[in-house]
Amino acid sequence: MDADFLPMLTGCFAKPVAENPTVAMVEAAYRHHGIHARYINCEVSPERLGDAVRGAKAMGWAGFNCSIPHKVAVIDHLDGLGDSASLIGAVNTVVRRGESWIGENTDGRGFVAALRTVVDPAGTTVAIFGAGGAARAVSVELALAGVRRIVVVNRSHDRAAPLVRLLNEKTNANAELVGWSPGYRVPESADIVINATSIGLFPDVEGRLDVDMNAIEPTMIVADFIPNPPRTRFVRDAEARGCRTLDGLGMLVNQGVIGIKYWTGVDVDPTVMRKALAEVLGV
Ligand code: NDP
Repeated sequence: MDADFLPMLTGCFAKPVAENPTVAMVEAAYRHHGIHARYINCEVSPERLGDAVRGAKAMGWAGFNCSIPHKVAVIDHLDGLGDSASLIGAVNTVVRRGESWIGENTDGRGFVAALRTVVDPAGTTVAIFGAGGAARAVSVELALAGVRRIVVVNRSHDRAAPLVRLLNEKTNANAELVGWSPGYRVPESADIVINATSIGLFPDVEGRLDVDMNAIEPTMIVADFIPNPPRTRFVRDAEARGCRTLDGLGMLVNQGVIGIKYWTGVDVDPTVMRKALAEVLGV
């Protein structure tokens, strides 16, 4: 019998994890490309993270994603970090390379890949709302992609200040911190405007950024990180202004494409993944 009942193992360690739809898009890609692999959501508590990583090593996993609350803590259990993960200080994808387990961060690269479908970010000015983990990953990657100026607009000063310092000290981008005043007007010089806050995420589906949409020019590219629902209020308002838009599904799909390439070496088709994701999210 010529059988192989031993799939390559990949997955996600997080808590909670039951509602993480990444499994649907990754396994759709595995099936579509005939990759003999599985992706398994594992609910791992912070106290058991070390055991979970040792288990993955013992079982010969190819790697795994980490989500909340493990993106920083996992670093203690790894052998090294990729360049951007090291700058960002957080890992969302762990990759086995020989006997070493290396942490990468694909959130930012997924976003930049989606952005490149509409514009080359080199030399542009970006206004980004939010300064949490996702904003940090994406701003660092945008800076590495050659963005000239990054205006970080955030409600709390304390979260935004370290991000702006990091960008100014460790990258070639020129970063500026702006407190978020009501009816904030995006600077005229902005080429790309990004919602990296959680405003608009299900169930807050009608959540609206406190910005003056009249300052958003049709020439600006407007992106939203929110994957569910992808057509956020901000995306719809920007489209009404005539802007080109990017939704959070594109970012999620593209970071998955990069992760699968790390684990399997295969360049998978993003359209298959986007379709699977849209199906499970019902959008
Ligand atoms: P964090 O909790 O680390 O950061 C949240 C950010 O949103 C903070 O800057 C916070 O500001 C801001 N914020 C939240 N509520 C408000 C509000 N009412 N008004 C103003 N600012 C607000 O989250 P993450 O950075 O990890 O994630 C942010 C979003 O990005 C999430 O919704 C997540 O779903 C999405 N995401 C999407 C991905 C994709 O692939 N599409 C990948 C990763 C994340 P403050 O500092 O003042 O509290």
